[in-house]
Amino acid sequence: MFIIKEIQTAAYLFACILFILSLSGLSSQESAKRGVMYGILGMIVAVLATIFGQSVEGHIYIVIALAIASVIGVIVARKVEMTAMPQLVAILHSFVGLAAVLVGFGSYLDPLTQKLQGIEHSIHLVEVFVGVFIGTITLTGSVIAWGKLDGKVQSKPWNFKGLQSMNFILFSTCIVLGVFFYQASTLELGIIYLLIMTAIASFIGVVLVMAIGGGDMPVVVSMLNSYSGWAASAAGFMLGNDLLIVTGALVGSSGAILSIHMCKAMNRSFFSVIFASGAGGSSQGGEKKAIEGEVTSLGHEEVAQLLKESKSIVIVPGYGMATAKAQYLIYELVQTLKKEGKNVRFAIHPVAGRLPGHMNVLLAEANVPYDIVLEMDEINDDMSETDVVMVVGANDVVNPSAQDDPASSIYGMPVIEVWKAEKVIILKRGMSAGYSGEENPLFYKNNSEMLYGDAKSSVEKLLSYLK
Ligand code: NDP
Repeated sequence: MFIIKEIQTAAYLFACILFILSLSGLSSQESAKRGVMYGILGMIVAVLATIFGQSVEGHIYIVIALAIASVIGVIVARKVEMTAMPQLVAILHSFVGLAAVLVGFGSYLDPLTQKLQGIEHSIHLVEVFVGVFIGTITLTGSVIAWGKLDGKVQSKPWNFKGLQSMNFILFSTCIVLGVFFYQASTLELGIIYLLIMTAIASFIGVVLVMAIGGGDMPVVVSMLNSYSGWAASAAGFMLGNDLLIVTGALVGSSGAILSIHMCKAMNRSFFSVIFASGAGGSSQGGEKKAIEGEVTSLGHEEVAQLLKESKSIVIVPGYGMATAKAQYLIYELVQTLKKEGKNVRFAIHPVAGRLPGHMNVLLAEANVPYDIVLEMDEINDDMSETDVVMVVGANDVVNPSAQDDPASSIYGMPVIEVWKAEKVIILKRGMSAGYSGEENPLFYKNNSEMLYGDAKSSVEKLLSYLK
């Protein structure tokens, strides 16, 4: 059964509206679920309208591919731990890149497109070259990002002299190859240029992400999200599919806006992160400041007593809360403390965890009310009037060297100024560094105390002492 052209166009328009509603729904936590539903519905409409479109053949193969992919998708999504979500997102971005590359090669070799003449032919060649270029960078960059987020590739930035010059030469070579490709007299020659460019772009993708340090990875993740949108859009141009062009552009532009916001939150220049020189953000290099002081710790009973005596408490969650899955018990702790009349709030750093909005998602999952979840900028001024700050599995986002050590790779990144509170309790298992690999002088401050152990079991013990 084929959908006639007019119905397909109407369905595409409807899907576009649903995608826009989805994006606007995702802009706040209250409407996020609705936004996701709009997105799912839009995708169902888009897939059906495309499969049953007039020029599509071989439905049986498409249905088989869809069935296999859906089963794999459901299994993976059900199996993946919340903490491994960032890696999953990164690897999914790589699939979009791969799809754009395959569509590019397929479209170039397609006998129908070879019959194109004049300006149509020229536009098609540009679409193919640009689509394969963006797709390849997205593909290899996302695989490296997956490796870094999964701990399989070191998070330290690749840094060597001449990195930027090398990038410049690689980009320039691709432009020259583009001109050769455009002027290629035969299909075989065109494919050779396309293959050489693909090999170089693969390397560019690897270098761009390897050059970025752990602390700046949030921007890379959102940039790759944006690239995957542009790659999809390029595939849409090659296939002559309007919906794919619009959807790709929506993902591409929203990803770019998110990256700019992330850069602002981290006080980084967008271009310096993307074309990283390797040194990391605003770091001025040189010797790192020696850390002074001594690390001291408290037991669970002592911390419970401290909480009992406090009036104002702030909880700063980080990646460790996600790995420990401590959010549910933390909310139970908050409810217990609130019953005793204490002012308990959460302070959220925009890049805490491993995904934009990671902490907000986890707290929402545990049904924490939004009015006690405050952004870093909203709560930083209150730190000096706070009795106790509990840092739960956070490290980089509370590292004072971001403010006072120009040699640190996270120097210049705004952080939650927990050390200004009367007392800071840090829940973590040992003394290991955060994702950036930087030491944290907070642990050595006079008003800081470590509470060693897995965050979930620590909170469990605190609860038992409080009850
Ligand atoms: P960090 O990665 O800096 O630190 C997490 C800390 O949690 C570790 O030091 C670890 O210490 C502790 N921890 C781990 N497991 C547990 C556990 N089960 N119980 C208790 N503690 C635990 O996290 P932050 O959230 O502070 O910072 C996020 C970092 O990740 C930033 O550098 C950010 O730039 C980067 N990043 C963020 C992304 C995003 O989009 N949000 C994406 C990619 C990177 P120990 O092992 O001693 O317990």
